[in-house]
Amino acid sequence: MTENNPKKILIIEDETSISDIIKFNLKKEGYAVETAYDGKDGLDKALSGNCDLILLDVMLPIMDGFEICRRVREHSSVPILMLTAKEEEVDKVLGLELGADDYITKPFGMRELIARIKANIRRTAQMTEPPQASSDTRDFGSLQIDLTRFEVRKNGQRLDLTLREFELLRYLAEHEERVFSREQLLEEVWGYEYYGDIRTVDVTVRRLREKLEDDPAQPAYILTRRGIGYYFRRPQ
Ligand code: CA
Repeated sequence: MTENNPKKILIIEDETSISDIIKFNLKKEGYAVETAYDGKDGLDKALSGNCDLILLDVMLPIMDGFEICRRVREHSSVPILMLTAKEEEVDKVLGLELGADDYITKPFGMRELIARIKANIRRTAQMTEPPQASSDTRDFGSLQIDLTRFEVRKNGQRLDLTLREFELLRYLAEHEERVFSREQLLEEVWGYEYYGDIRTVDVTVRRLREKLEDDPAQPAYILTRRGIGYYFRRPQ
């Protein structure tokens, strides 16, 4: 990150005390910050499309964070990190189902929040780098994974994956036939000390299968090894 081209974070959070302290800390880290204090303004700013990551509270005036997440995902794969309250366990899973990349539970430490933001932005930065002349594409029969363009094609059709879905598929495909536990996948794919729970992996696998598989109930690419975890198999 250079000073000339700071990454921009959009904070959608109605509690000004929380918003202010996040803003203060992000600016100190060299990020540009935009704020919205209600759901409608948040959605408008999110859809303007010039932020590099969205921090999204769940309970907001006018429109809640889930609705914002769902609508943003119709247009954009910008990383979304949801802010959820401690007692709202169900919110985490729902947020991920709607396409959020990550969540952090209130109250959270600034160091943890910034680590999450950095990890999520690092991956996006790789995505937006201009593709190299020689693309690095892995061929799995009907499936092509382009590692420089961060694109997946199935039978020539480009799949619209979020960054996390792409990373998960890439990791499993690069280790064809090897079974990974959910804990291993959290560590390897999510890429930092993850304080969340392993349902995150299940939800992301389910979303990925819905986009990838002909029949998500009878997956051909991402298979379950019952009681252990998941693995990738090249379809015959
Ligand atoms: Ca709130």
